Amino acid sequence: MTETVERASTPANRAEPPTYRNFIAGSWVDSVAGETFESQNPADIRDVVGRFQQSTKADVAMAVKAAETALPMWRRTPAPKRGEILYRFGALMAEQKERLARAMTREMGKVIAEARGDVQEGIDIAFLMAGEGRRTFGDTVPSELPDKWAMSVRQPIGVAGIITPWNFPIAIPCWKMMPALVTGNTVVFKPASDTPHCATLLVELMAQAGFPAGTVNLVTGAGGEVGDAIVDSPDVPVLSFTGRSATGKRIAERAARRLKRLSLELGGKNGVVVLGDADLDLATDGIVWSAFGTSGQRCTAASRVIVERSVVEPLLERLEGRARRMRLGSGLDETVDVGPLINEAAVEKVGGYVEIGRAEGELVLGGGRASGGELANGWFFEPTIFRDVRPMDRIAQEEIFGPVLSIIPVADETQALTALNQTRYGLSASIFTRDVNAAFRAMRDFEAGIVYVNAGTTGAETHLPFGGWKETGNGHREAGHAALDSFTEWKSIYVDFSGRLQRAQIDNASD
Ligand code: NDP
Repeated sequence: MTETVERASTPANRAEPPTYRNFIAGSWVDSVAGETFESQNPADIRDVVGRFQQSTKADVAMAVKAAETALPMWRRTPAPKRGEILYRFGALMAEQKERLARAMTREMGKVIAEARGDVQEGIDIAFLMAGEGRRTFGDTVPSELPDKWAMSVRQPIGVAGIITPWNFPIAIPCWKMMPALVTGNTVVFKPASDTPHCATLLVELMAQAGFPAGTVNLVTGAGGEVGDAIVDSPDVPVLSFTGRSATGKRIAERAARRLKRLSLELGGKNGVVVLGDADLDLATDGIVWSAFGTSGQRCTAASRVIVERSVVEPLLERLEGRARRMRLGSGLDETVDVGPLINEAAVEKVGGYVEIGRAEGELVLGGGRASGGELANGWFFEPTIFRDVRPMDRIAQEEIFGPVLSIIPVADETQALTALNQTRYGLSASIFTRDVNAAFRAMRDFEAGIVYVNAGTTGAETHLPFGGWKETGNGHREAGHAALDSFTEWKSIYVDFSGRLQRAQIDNASD
């Protein structure tokens, strides 16, 4: 155990789960009110991961103050030096990848191979953004006037409020904090209440990597208290949020009162089109991975498969066969395919949608809570498939966030395109076809931020922009260079070395 780990939790007592603290101004501290909440293992809720601070507005105020205090020092630290700390952080994550992945599986349930992938995304973005420290490009352009220099530079906005969901508990905080920090902002980070342990481990490594006191502050606690306090703080000018559309809209309304910079990554209802000429085995691989990976709890999960009628039966036969064989259980067991849902509310929500689906399509597989044998103490749900669903049915329109797949038959490619776009979301979409012209039409016409050809709806890489159209977001992007836009202001600078007054658009007018 590292020194910082020991500082994050109270001294170990074998009978009790450890209690972890907030991280404010470089110290691990109890919340002012002293209340705590538990985080449990969703595969076996008897396993309590730890107790975490149930923080209040007072704790947020302290964290914001610490971030504000650190800001002048951090924004003046040369960007390549900031990048070096990100690089050290990425290297530490790489060293501790297995430990982080196992902690993630224990706390939120995704199978260990996927948890390793989640940590790897964090490592990738740390290294990518470390490089931005030496390449935060602006423009140098000629002035329209003689003896005058013109350029534009990116500058930090200030204290960034980072609010994240539980489904990618390492990757998403890194996607937000790395670009925020490398560009000179300081951070107040509120993780989801279902995954405070992952957040604590991450911040411990950040402290160990050398982020100076106050640059990164962690405050755990409820969204309605801690989240609201961050959103409403007059001293937090920039916010980055990932979560449900309803929460995002509420945050947008509040943030608008102070005209804050706000980046939103919200829900999805991602579709896969399978045309009649597709390689059905490949399509099956892609759909099973996208629909049932992370138990369907990915923003990019495929929940709609839009299939040309000619291949509905052979595709369904393959999907059903594969899904039926999937093994449910604790994700720490390498042979398990599907882990638990995150909590009881999720099981109830998914079960509710199955009831709605029974009236809309035909249930061909699953549909119930799985609780036999070793699953008895966890939040497991069977991989579920409905057939003969229509594009505007509720199960084809609303984000279920569980292992539920709707098969939507269509007559042809034109109908498939219409059905694919008939949703208020626009995150990820895919097409399986061997027809290059159909593939290009999909690339042109799919209304989504991410489009895959002959692959499922999941698999984004960190050097490309990530985010969605329509109600999946508000036009910002994570990852890639685009992430810098969420955390920087542009400043245009003119330097006149003529020694006299020169008036743009007037002294040099051509008429
Ligand atoms: P939620 O919206 O419930 O919560 C997200 C975060 O917001 C949590 O930290 C939560 O805290 C906090 N929060 C809740 N209420 C408020 C509030 N009033 N003010 C400020 N913060 C608040 O989403 P989930 O955690 O359930 O995540 C699942 C959702 O995230 C899905 O819709 C999924 O599609 C989406 N998502 C989108 C991605 C994208 O890139 N587009 C990527 C990944 C997920 P607490 O936990 O304490 O309630």
